[in-house]
Amino acid sequence: MGNNLALIATFGVDDFTGTTLSEAVDVLKEKFHLKGEYFGNFSPPLLNARDGQLYADAMLFHLTKIKPPSAVAILGITPYDIYSDGLNFVFGVASPHYRAAVVSYARLLTPDRELFISRVRKEITHEMGHVFGLEHCTTPGCVMNFSNSLYEVDLKGENFCDRCRKKLEETLRGLGVI
Ligand SMILES: [Zn+2]
Ligand SMILES: [Zn+2]
Repeated sequence: MGNNLALIATFGVDDFTGTTLSEAVDVLKEKFHLKGEYFGNFSPPLLNARDGQLYADAMLFHLTKIKPPSAVAILGITPYDIYSDGLNFVFGVASPHYRAAVVSYARLLTPDRELFISRVRKEITHEMGHVFGLEHCTTPGCVMNFSNSLYEVDLKGENFCDRCRKKLEETLRGLGVI
């Protein structure tokens, strides 16, 4: 108990950052029993940046460097579009080893505010699920379904299936979060 601090860093801010941050705090609390705290805004790492896109793994690496031992996990949020090795774009990346994740909301934007929020919540839940050891899941509707398009993001639910939820709880218990 008590090992429940999760830090949230931003790489760049825009009009949607505030909404995204407050949803992140909610998601961390509701789905992971974590206390999300804003850690600050950092310059987007330019390593391997390419036309209009930043390199997700450089952000992940940056997070592993700044994460203090007092935090059980760290989440980076960015308005910039990101890509990873072998992938044209990603909604997010995660490292269970370093317990760090990055989520980009560049491709989640829509004038429908409710839809935007639901997408943001799903992607944060998904990447943080990876942070705590969950893998992709094929149970229909589970938030750990792999999604490579907005269509797939919108198709899945915001929650873990029973199996993922049980596995997650075990991990959180092992870490002393719950
Ligand atoms: Zn995934
Ligand atoms: Zn599942």
